[in-house]
Amino acid sequence: MAKRDYYEILGVDKNASKEEIKKAYRKLAMKFHPDRNQGDKEAEEKFKEGAEAYEVLSNDDKKARYDQFGHEGMRGGYEGQGFTDINDIFSHFSDIFSGSSIFDDFFGGGGQRGRSQRRGTGQPGSDLRVTLKLTLEEIAAGVTKKLKIKKLVTCDNCNGNGAEGGSSKTTCPVCHGTGEIKQVSRSVFGQFVNITTCNNCGGEGSVIDHPCRKCRGDGRVKDEVTIKIDVPAGVHEGSYMTIRGQGNAGKRNGRAGDIIVVFHEEPHKYFIRDENDIIYDLHISFPTAALGDEVEVPTLNGKAKLKIEPGTNAGKLLKMRGKGIKHLNHSGSGSQYVRINIEVPKKLSSKEKELLRELGKLPSIKNIPGTDEKHFFKRSR
Ligand SMILES: [Zn+2]
Ligand SMILES: [Zn+2]
Repeated sequence: MAKRDYYEILGVDKNASKEEIKKAYRKLAMKFHPDRNQGDKEAEEKFKEGAEAYEVLSNDDKKARYDQFGHEGMRGGYEGQGFTDINDIFSHFSDIFSGSSIFDDFFGGGGQRGRSQRRGTGQPGSDLRVTLKLTLEEIAAGVTKKLKIKKLVTCDNCNGNGAEGGSSKTTCPVCHGTGEIKQVSRSVFGQFVNITTCNNCGGEGSVIDHPCRKCRGDGRVKDEVTIKIDVPAGVHEGSYMTIRGQGNAGKRNGRAGDIIVVFHEEPHKYFIRDENDIIYDLHISFPTAALGDEVEVPTLNGKAKLKIEPGTNAGKLLKMRGKGIKHLNHSGSGSQYVRINIEVPKKLSSKEKELLRELGKLPSIKNIPGTDEKHFFKRSR
């Protein structure tokens, strides 16, 4: 699924001021606020999408990079936050959410909201990285691919909570349910309080009496699943796409990781890619180059006829407009360039040699230069 334009998401234009961007995001966040749209998945997605857009556009560095390169440029640390957990949004933009009374009413100061690992759930699942091979034809038009992936999924025997047959969980005796251990140490400078995650329950605050037989209390099991990936047209070798929440399941209902799909472009039988243009080397004979002809060339979708003008030289590029690869971030396509090569035969019969010598005596051929300086061709194109 291709990402929407960040400006479009917030409904502002590219010259909007920081204050306008903030205002637009606040409006959107209010509209799609999860507490106002309970159980509405679409509103939740819009809420997350808006947060990601604002996260980028409110940051000068990220905004500049996005303005220049679009979504393609948002890699290597410039990536949008891509919030999977709504709680992260509240803690990340606390200035937005605490500034208006409506949000104060809802959250009464926030507190627990900021924690990415909520109490009662286990560690988040890890991300999975997969490589997806694509042909140039698939890249040119975009394609939907199915991919089998081995990953950890939520255990169906215990619904992911790790306890067998609805057995109970007991409050952790070490941390008494807080998931944290406070260590107080005294020194000559005074008293220090050090807070760490409880080792006994891993920060969950509870322990399982009877671990699930299927997953041994982990809350997840190995499985193979098929995922569908909508690859937009125009992707490049090495570029990637993140599918949020589809990676390994988290431990005992912890947040799931992401799947990172890295695209691999397979070499093409006929074409060389140059950004969104493709180049095809056409080999023709000297008579065809001299007299002109109509020839057939391969394209990314079948064959096409191409006219060779009389007097076409080697190295000339013939442009087939729009026959290249679709642009990723805007409409239109690149072109196909057909590069002319004149094929000189290596083996000649004595009769052929005789005919070529005759040909060489023709006035128009005789004037074609050797290495004489006055015949040096000026660089063209
Ligand atoms: Zn289980
Ligand atoms: Zn504990």
